[in-house]
Formats: sequence, structure tokens, C-alpha cells
Amino acid sequence: MIRIEAPVAPAVALVFDSPHSGSQYPDDFGHAIDRSILRRSEDAHIEDLFAPVTELGGTLLHALFPRCYLDPNRALEDLDLSMIDGDWPHAVAPSGKTRQGKGLVWYRVKEHGPIYDRKLTAAEVQRRIEQCWQPYHAAISRLLDEAHARHGRFVHVNCHSMASRGDSFSEDGPVARPDFVLGDRDGSSCDPRITETAAAVLRELGYRVAVNDPYKGMELVRRYSNPGRARHSLQIEINRALYMEETTIERSDGYARLKAHLFELMRALAALAREGLG
Ligand SMILES: [Zn+2]
Repeated sequence: MIRIEAPVAPAVALVFDSPHSGSQYPDDFGHAIDRSILRRSEDAHIEDLFAPVTELGGTLLHALFPRCYLDPNRALEDLDLSMIDGDWPHAVAPSGKTRQGKGLVWYRVKEHGPIYDRKLTAAEVQRRIEQCWQPYHAAISRLLDEAHARHGRFVHVNCHSMASRGDSFSEDGPVARPDFVLGDRDGSSCDPRITETAAAVLRELGYRVAVNDPYKGMELVRRYSNPGRARHSLQIEINRALYMEETTIERSDGYARLKAHLFELMRALAALAREGLG
């Protein structure tokens, strides 16, 4: 349910991951809502857009399962017990994402409503955690630890895409979004020079870039980062209108241009990972 793309050039301390681009819908999903609605929640094509990082010595991990089935960018406790039939044996701490229906296991898609016409069994949710969340986190944790052991540091980039506009269900309301939103959890998940370098490269290419607004970074940049120990994690959100048709998720005319620009961004981050941050 996950895939790791290994470096095809001498390795640098650069690890990218794409937790939301998976499109292999498991047979036991059992959703009631139309599949085409669910597919719009994918960060479609993100694993392809960032795949060339391996040519720069970086590694790319990506999920094959869809994020609405199980979202690896959530804490295990981020769960709404009202969607589960039977006793849940673990602690829960629902975040704002769960209240929007987008926690560890999604239960609704915005105005389209509930994903299921049933409750999920506790065993079913446990199985999704074991088959999706745990392998994904074991892989990213291992890749980051190996990079740190080998190079004394890592630069981890957690890659996403976002709808071109917010809506009444989103954090930012019904407004047009910038081209990129970089998230470093208000400066706590990576050295500010990494965020500044990424923002400068993208602005030089002509993009509108916001930082930590409205997306600061979630579980995957929180959990493994520790800038004081040279463990740096940055989240990147790309506006989907730059590269795809948002309702059909087909690649658009801008796709190749964006992919070339992302290579410039990755080249700058690879240089930082290679040289270190002093
Ligand atoms: Zn995402």
C-alpha cells in the first residue's frame, strides 16, 4: 500500500513524501458516495510531479491507498467515535479536521455529505491503521533516520496539493488561494532558511507564495521534525489549478511547466541538504 522511489544519483539527505496522492481503492472500502466525488479529495499527480527528486539524490515515499480511506497525515487519536460500531480500545483526541469529517478516517466530503451509509466496525478501522498508517509511518521514520545517520541531518519535504479556492467548509473560507502555501508550523519544524529558500525560488519563478496561512503543516511535519537536531520538515501545498482540472483531476496544459519549476525548487533544496545549514 506504499511505494518508495530510491535515489538514482549519489544520495543526499533529502526525503520527500506524498501521503495523499494514492488512488488504489481497496475492495473493503464499502463507501456509499460516488467514487468520482471521493477522487476529488486526492492530491492527484503529486507523486509524479515530485518523482524527479530521485535524480537529485533524494528519496520519495508515496501512499498508494486513498487518503479518504485512511489519512496518514493525521494522528492516530484524530478519530470520531460516533462513526464506529462497537468499542474502540484506544484513546481519541478529535481535532478540527475530524470535526470537518477529515480526520484519520474520513466520514464526509464537504457539501456532498456522508461517505458511508453505515458505521464502520472497530476491527475495520483497526485493519486500516495496520495496513496503511503503520506501514507509511514505519517507512518515513526509517528513511528519515537512515538519512540522519548517514549525513548527520535531513531535509524532509511533505508534499500536497490544495483546491484553488477555499469554501465554507475550509479553514480560510470562500477565497482564492495563492499558488503555493509553505508550512513549517510557525517556524518550529525546520530551519527558517529552508522555508525562505523555497519561498524565494518559487517567487523568483513568478508564483504567489504564502507561509503558514492557511496551512501550517500537520502530523507528518510535526511528528519527525526537530530542527535543533538537524531534523527539518517542511510542508508544501500546490494550488491544483496550476496543473489539473479540479473536477475531473485530469492533467492540464500547465502540467509540464509546473513540473519543470518544481525541479528548480528541488535542486535548491538538494543544495541545502548537501551543504547543511551550518
Ligand atoms: Zn494533502
